[in-house]
Amino acid sequence: MSIDVRKYLQPHKCLTLEERLALVKCRFDDRSHIEVDQSGFRADPDRAVLFICPAQVFKLNETDDSCIVNYEDCLECGACQVARRYTSWRNPRGGYGVTYHYG
Ligand code: SF4
Repeated sequence: MSIDVRKYLQPHKCLTLEERLALVKCRFDDRSHIEVDQSGFRADPDRAVLFICPAQVFKLNETDDSCIVNYEDCLECGACQVARRYTSWRNPRGGYGVTYHYG
C-alpha cells in the first residue's frame, strides 16, 4: 500500500475572517448580558469601549451621546472587560450565547 505524501503536505485551507465568523452559531437571549453605565461612558474622554470590541458591539448614539449595546453580536471574547470602568459583562444565561466551531 502506498501513501500519497503530497496529500498530507497540502496547506490548510485559509478562511477569511468573515468565513470564520460565519461558523459561529448563536442563540439569542431577549435579555442583554452587557450593560453600560451611560454617565460613566459620557465622562470617559477616550471611550475605549467603542474601539476595543472586535464585533463592534458598542456604538455611539450621536443624537444623545449615549452608548448603544448590540449584545446580540457579542462573541464572548472578554476584551471589553479591559474597559470595565463603566461596562458590566457577564456570561449569557444558560443555553444562550455563542457556540464556536474550531478547525
Ligand atoms: S465580550 Fe468581546 S465581543 Fe462581547 S462585547 Fe465584549 S469585547 Fe465585544
